[in-house]
Amino acid sequence: MTARRRNTASAVTAAPDPDRVRALLAELTRIWPLAECGLVYRSPFELLVATILSAQCTDVQVNRVTPALFAVYPDPRSMAAADPERLEELIRPTGFFRNKAHSLLACSRVLMEKHGGAVPRTLEQMVTLPGVGRKTANVVLGEVFAVPGIVVDTHVKRLSQRLGLTTANDPEKIERDLMGIIPQPLWTVLSHLLITHGRHVCFARAPLCDACALRRLCPYGSGEGERIS
Ligand code: SF4
Repeated sequence: MTARRRNTASAVTAAPDPDRVRALLAELTRIWPLAECGLVYRSPFELLVATILSAQCTDVQVNRVTPALFAVYPDPRSMAAADPERLEELIRPTGFFRNKAHSLLACSRVLMEKHGGAVPRTLEQMVTLPGVGRKTANVVLGEVFAVPGIVVDTHVKRLSQRLGLTTANDPEKIERDLMGIIPQPLWTVLSHLLITHGRHVCFARAPLCDACALRRLCPYGSGEGERIS
């Protein structure tokens, strides 16, 4: 039999200790005082577009593409009338450009037809937009409308599991678990903190546990998450 570290939260079943959660938040805030959204934008619409483009793409790459994109299509009206092929060319470097162009066109048209060209301010309305799920909706709502929301992307999912904050795999369930243990005013910043820590320390394949300031609070990094197989 060998000891093996698991990359899932299956080893953690009890509800997280509130004191440990508070300590994790404090430590994350101390380590990453400047954690923030990595996408560059000037309006709710631009952030919505940038977030749609960020699927399967880095923020850095999205930020390279959006200045030229927004110079041509600065608002829902212009993007709704965009030539699909030109739109595809402009966003091609972000990957999956045909699907993304389709979403941007459809989303812009719905914004014009049903929302007067404005980005809606509620989760319920946001998720009715083509190409917009809870993750994208929470990014925009939290960032530009100060509506607290937890963004469950690949980093938040992985870190929440490793840190023993959830045992779930489904993003919506993870979101609910986190909402149940994190004070609402901190929902948006929690996402930024976990994403930043995931990008710089808690990598998917080889997390830097030995150098991680969260280690003593982390079931995975401290070995608490180890199981005999
Ligand atoms: S101790 Fe390891 S697994 Fe835990 S948060 Fe740090 S890098 Fe990630």
